Amino acid sequence: MKPVIALVGRPNVGKSTLFNRLTRSRDALVADLPGLTRDRHYGEGRVGERPFLVIDTGGFEPVAKEGIMYEMAKQTKQAVVEADVVIFIVDGRQGLTPHDKTITDFLRKAGRTVMLVVNKSEGMKYTSVTADFYELGMGDPYVISAAHGDGVADLVDEALNQAEAQRAPESEEEKTARGIKIAIVGRPNVGKSTLVNTLLGEERVIAFDMPGTTRDSIEIPFERDGKHYTLIDTAGIRRRGKVFEAIEKFSVVKTLQSISEANVVLLLLDAQQDISEQDAHIAGFVLESGRALVVGVNKWDGLQSDQRDQIKTDIERKLNFLSFAKFHFISAIKATGIGPLIKSIDSAYAAAMSNLTTPKLTRALIEALEHQQPRRKGSIRPKMRYAHQGGQNPPVVVIHGNALESIEDSYKRYLEKHFRETFSLVGTPLRIEFRSSK
Ligand code: GDP
Ligand code: GDP
Repeated sequence: MKPVIALVGRPNVGKSTLFNRLTRSRDALVADLPGLTRDRHYGEGRVGERPFLVIDTGGFEPVAKEGIMYEMAKQTKQAVVEADVVIFIVDGRQGLTPHDKTITDFLRKAGRTVMLVVNKSEGMKYTSVTADFYELGMGDPYVISAAHGDGVADLVDEALNQAEAQRAPESEEEKTARGIKIAIVGRPNVGKSTLVNTLLGEERVIAFDMPGTTRDSIEIPFERDGKHYTLIDTAGIRRRGKVFEAIEKFSVVKTLQSISEANVVLLLLDAQQDISEQDAHIAGFVLESGRALVVGVNKWDGLQSDQRDQIKTDIERKLNFLSFAKFHFISAIKATGIGPLIKSIDSAYAAAMSNLTTPKLTRALIEALEHQQPRRKGSIRPKMRYAHQGGQNPPVVVIHGNALESIEDSYKRYLEKHFRETFSLVGTPLRIEFRSSK
């Protein structure tokens, strides 16, 4: 499970600057999509091979009793509770303020691992920029410059080490016993817990608890037609004995975590409601994560045909960026449409785990080129030579050649479509990366 890092500190210390540096978009695909709203306070980052989630908590005024400051403090508190490690940022140019002390007290009570970080330290000596902050009693501060990037990679490395140290690692056996890992996500009331109960009511549940899972996470292995699956840490539901019920509060962090833990995400929508901004948000998270995706349009029972047409139009209009995924119209309560839904989960997983050999990919690349060449940029003509597979779940196609940085996004999308069709990659995002030799 990806570790969660929360950025906390009073306004203007540089939290968003650090956030942006940590989450700098890796994926042009998402940035290009029209009308895709993204929650700027949650992001994914990566240092080397190590992925993590980061939360920017906005300004923190722990004393406020109401209004926007109070709301922000509430959100900060939730973020702190959900984080593995809190990065507490102070401003090295302003020095210590009373406000920093209030935040320190709050963090101490929260009982989380906290790293004290002095920002804006570029061009300053360690001893002089940190001197003020020993008073907070949080040990040796880390120093960074979020704006220039100094010390940021080391800081995150250390934060991830600390997060890892708090978690029990998973063994290979545990990994294989889990089969396809499925996360069911969706806003409150779309029918997630109903679907889980239906699924498990139909299926043989092997065991409820897996060893080594973190606090309040639920892992539900089940078998269907001889195949193994695990519902992983499905956000927004909890167990009550043998049945599952909805949690009232929606947690973005839990949703992001379950998405990043899964092989396949099952996004549930409510056919009896309009597609909301929150649906689009969650869908955006899934897309950005690169996980395979199947969409269940739930509560299909009891709808008139004009209502059905209406929701289909609404989906096409608002979630058109999910066209790579299969949509299923189901009823969790009446248990209709479940079999085909699971079949799509299987095939989305298979597509996500495809093995695409270099000869096959290169042949597909040449075909694409024969059909349409990338545009010349000034006197530069990008030259693509061959392609190899750089990863699975999502499949990554790495294209080698010269001057590839001048290739336009529209051409990249054309290539993506071509590879997707050639290899029948339904249900999984596909990433294209260019690697130019000098
Ligand atoms: P936030 O309110 O905590 O999210 O702070 P911001 O990220 O918006 O930064 C507040 C101000 O500090 C902005 O003007 C930034 O450009 C500036 N800032 C952020 N990081 C650094 C840094 O490392 N060095 C310097 N000199 N300024 C910085
Ligand atoms: P969750 O918050 O996403 O876990 O949603 P729940 O599973 O708690 O369901 C919310 C409400 O929708 C409950 O009243 C369910 O009975 C109802 N519901 C769930 N699935 C269906 C369905 O397939 N059809 C209809 N008509 N109602 C459903």
